[in-house]
Amino acid sequence: MVRTLADTVGALAPALAAREAADPDRYPAENVAALVEAGVIRAPFPVSAGGSGATLLDAVDAVETIAAASPSTALLAAMPLGLAGAYSAGPDIAPPEHRRDWAEQIDRVAADYRAGVLYAACNSEKGAGGSLDATKTTAQLRDGRFELTGEKILASFGRNAARFFSTAKVTQADLPGAGVVEFFLVKPTSPGVEILNDWDGFGMRSTESHTVRYSAAPAEGIVGFPNFIEVVQPLTYWFALFSAIPLGCAAAIRRELATPAPESPALRLRLSEARMREEALRAYLHESARAWRPGAGPAYAARMLRTKTFVTQEATRLCAELFALSGGRHYKRDGRVARLLAASFAGTALRPPLPLALETLVQQFSAE
Ligand SMILES: Cc1cc2nc3c(=O)[nH]c(=O)nc-3n(C[C@H](O)[C@H](O)[C@H](O)COP(=O)(O)OP(=O)(O)OC[C@H]3O[C@@H](n4cnc5c(N)ncnc54)[C@H](O)[C@@H]3O)c2cc1C
Repeated sequence: MVRTLADTVGALAPALAAREAADPDRYPAENVAALVEAGVIRAPFPVSAGGSGATLLDAVDAVETIAAASPSTALLAAMPLGLAGAYSAGPDIAPPEHRRDWAEQIDRVAADYRAGVLYAACNSEKGAGGSLDATKTTAQLRDGRFELTGEKILASFGRNAARFFSTAKVTQADLPGAGVVEFFLVKPTSPGVEILNDWDGFGMRSTESHTVRYSAAPAEGIVGFPNFIEVVQPLTYWFALFSAIPLGCAAAIRRELATPAPESPALRLRLSEARMREEALRAYLHESARAWRPGAGPAYAARMLRTKTFVTQEATRLCAELFALSGGRHYKRDGRVARLLAASFAGTALRPPLPLALETLVQQFSAE
């Protein structure tokens, strides 16, 4: 019998949850290692490259299961998992003149994933509000290689990352055909990379989401080819994964409150309602995820933006309502339910943060 990604993650979940409970504030090194070991992080790569050819739907399902066990582990996993999804776009998405290099890069990065190299997202910037356009970090070509200068915030994994992928602006002279920004690959141990120790999140405390400063930090190159983000549209892949995190939190809180089944009929009704809302959110997310393909175009990007906005907002709201129902037994700052509630809010803060998403929805609004 073929073991699906859902089977693999489902089997790991109890151990992920047990480690989270034992030490919720520490970077979950063992949990991440277990996901790497089981092939979860590289799952989107094709079987021929050591992955399991997982679709976005499979990956969304996996992230939800991980989030229900350990939200921080799920947030961490979503970053490299999403990049693997971008690489799974395959060689043919590249313009002919870049196809060979891109194919070679896919093989090289797949080999890294098989070896357990962790690729972490180091993109957000203070004051940019999650907008790529507002990125201030620049990449300049010097002696044949790019160097990055700028400050990033909320780079999950921190020092535990083996590679950062970082957005930066680059001139057409230095990279003909470049988009608004490109993703550059940077080794965190390179000269010119400073990882601060300033993460103090409301939830998701163990994600080590620190500030990173680049001053002429050498990059290994770009992800893909010029204008990669516009051509492949990988951001929608991450949006779906991020949505699965608060959904997993809501499912976990509901299950926690429903076990053992409460005596109160009113509570049973509320928990049934919560389950209906959770299932509706999951169905919406799954339907959008099922339609993902590289370079799916603006209508799909708008659909995924609506999905991410709605699912994260409603799942977080559901977590808050369930918490209000949970009673004094769960009213502990360090309790599992309170932690899940705090963690759920990261979904609305993750790219695109809720205010920017709402702003974009308004800008894109048109009669159907
Ligand atoms: C737990 C956690 C982990 C994260 N991990 C990562 C990671 O690994 N890598 C990474 O790169 N990022 C990460 N992020 C960052 C996240 O993905 C968002 O991109 C980032 O939070 C956006 O910036 P901000 O909300 O701090 O916005 P700020 O720039 O501080 O803006 C403040 C507010 O104003 C709004 N705003 C600003 N400009 C605009 C505008 N033009 N239009 C509309 N609204 C605007 C913003 O939406 C925001 O709500 C993480 C965030 C959290 C909470």
